[in-house]
Amino acid sequence: MSKKNKITKTGNMSQWYSYIIQQAEMADYSPVGGCIVMLPYATKIWEYIHQYHNINLKKRSVENTNYPLLIPQSLLEKEQEHIAGFSAEVAWVTKGGNEELSEKLAIRPTSETIMYHFFAKFIQSYTDMPLKHNQWCNVLRWEQTVTKPFIRGKEFWWTETHTCHASKKEAQTEVKEALNDYVDMCENLLAIPVIPGKKPDHDKFPGADYTTAIEAMMPDGKSLQMGTSHLLGQHFSKMFDIAFQDKNEKKQFAYQTSYGFSTRILGGLILAHGDDDGLIIPPKIAPIPVAIVPVYKTESKNKVVSKAKKIKESLEKLNLDVVIDLDEDKSPGYKFSKWEQKGVPLRIEIGGQEVENNSICAVRRNWKTRIKNNPDLGKKEIIPDKDVEKQIPKMLDEIQNELFDFAKKDLEKRYSIAKTREGFDSIIKEGNGYCETGWCGDEKCDEEIKEKTAARIVLIPNNPKQKYAKCIVYGKPSKETVLFSRKY
Ligand SMILES: [Zn+2]
Repeated sequence: MSKKNKITKTGNMSQWYSYIIQQAEMADYSPVGGCIVMLPYATKIWEYIHQYHNINLKKRSVENTNYPLLIPQSLLEKEQEHIAGFSAEVAWVTKGGNEELSEKLAIRPTSETIMYHFFAKFIQSYTDMPLKHNQWCNVLRWEQTVTKPFIRGKEFWWTETHTCHASKKEAQTEVKEALNDYVDMCENLLAIPVIPGKKPDHDKFPGADYTTAIEAMMPDGKSLQMGTSHLLGQHFSKMFDIAFQDKNEKKQFAYQTSYGFSTRILGGLILAHGDDDGLIIPPKIAPIPVAIVPVYKTESKNKVVSKAKKIKESLEKLNLDVVIDLDEDKSPGYKFSKWEQKGVPLRIEIGGQEVENNSICAVRRNWKTRIKNNPDLGKKEIIPDKDVEKQIPKMLDEIQNELFDFAKKDLEKRYSIAKTREGFDSIIKEGNGYCETGWCGDEKCDEEIKEKTAARIVLIPNNPKQKYAKCIVYGKPSKETVLFSRKY
C-alpha cells in the first residue's frame, strides 16, 4: 500500500482498528455476524493474561472450575431483575437433533444462575464458606448493535468469578480486592492506566446491590470498561436457596459477589497503545518480545545466520520468545515494517558488521507517529555480545514502563473538571475524555446529558479530584462526584 493511501490511527481510528486486527493477525470474522476467531497471536496474549490473573486468583483462594454451557429456562428466569437485564440478548436452543425440547435451553450469557443452582448444594454450613469459583469460558449475547471485534460482539471469552460469604462485610472486601487485582493487571501487565469506581445505581449489573468497575480512556476520547466487580448481596441466594447454618445453628442466606473481565481488554490494548504503523504490544505480554532480522549478502549469510541463532538461544534461556525472520523472498525493510506492524517491542538487526564487531544492533519499536520530535525512540543501540543477556531484558523493562507513562500522561490530558454548565458543555462538546463534576443522583440528569451530547456517567470515581456543591444539569445539591464521557 502506498504511503498516501495508508490507513492510519490518527486519520481514522475506527477504520484503522478493523484493518490492523486482520493485518496483524489478531482476529478474523466468522460467517456468523458479530463472532470472530481469535487467532494464535491474540490467543497468546490472552494466555499471558490467564497466567497473570490466575496467580492473583490463587492468592485469594479462588479455584478454577468449568460449569455447563446450557441453562434451563426455568433457572435463568429465577431471578427477575437478572433476566429482565438479559432477556433481549439470550440465544436459545429449542431443538436437540430432530426433537423439540420440552424446556428451552439458554446458551449462557453469564453463569450466575447455573452456578448458583450448584452452590445451593455445595453450601450447607458456615464452614463451607467462603466458596470461590472462577471459570475461563466463552459466553453468548445476541447483540443487536454494530459489533467490533473484541470490543463488542455476540460471543466473547472471559473470566467470571462467583463467591459466597457468611457475612456482608467479607463479601464487600472480596468485591474490593477483586477490583484491585484488575487495576494491578491492567496497569502492570497491559500498561494501561485505569480509574476504579462505582457505577451509578441505574447502570449496575442486573440483580446486584452495587457494581464497581474500572474504566480506561482510549485515544479517541471514549472510555472503555475494562472489568467489573459486583456485590450481589442476598438477591440470588434467597432465590436459589444458597443457605447455611451459622455458628448458632440458625439458617442464613449467603452474601455473594461476582466479578469478571473479557477479551474486550484486548480491544483496549490495541486501541490504547497502537499507532499509525500498527500494534504496539507491551513487552510483558508480547507474544514475540524480540524479532531478529538477519541482514546479509550471499557471502556473509552463514556467519550472520549462525550468529542470529546463537543470540536467539541465549535470549530463550531468559524465557523470552524470539523469532528469526529468515524469509528469503522479503527485503530487510519489508521485515522491519512487518514486525513493527505486529507491535514487536524490540528488533535485533544482525549483519556482517555485527559479526565482525562482536555486537548486535537493537532497535525499539518505532514510535515516531505517536510521539513527535523524540529522537530517542526508534534509535539504534549497539550492544556488545557479552552484554546481550543483561541489556535486552533491561530495554524491555524500560519499554514497558515508557508505555505506561505515556498512557498515564495521555489520561491526565484527557481528564478535566467542570464546576459550571458552560464549562461542562464546552469540555463535553470536544469529546476529549472525562469530565469530572457533581451529580444529584437522578437518572434523568444522566439521560438528558446523554441525549444532548452522547456522553454519560461512566463512573463515580473512588478518588475524585474535587467535591462539587451542585449537580451540573439543573443545579440541585450534588450527592456524588461523577465522570462523564462518551463510551464504547
Ligand atoms: Zn441532577
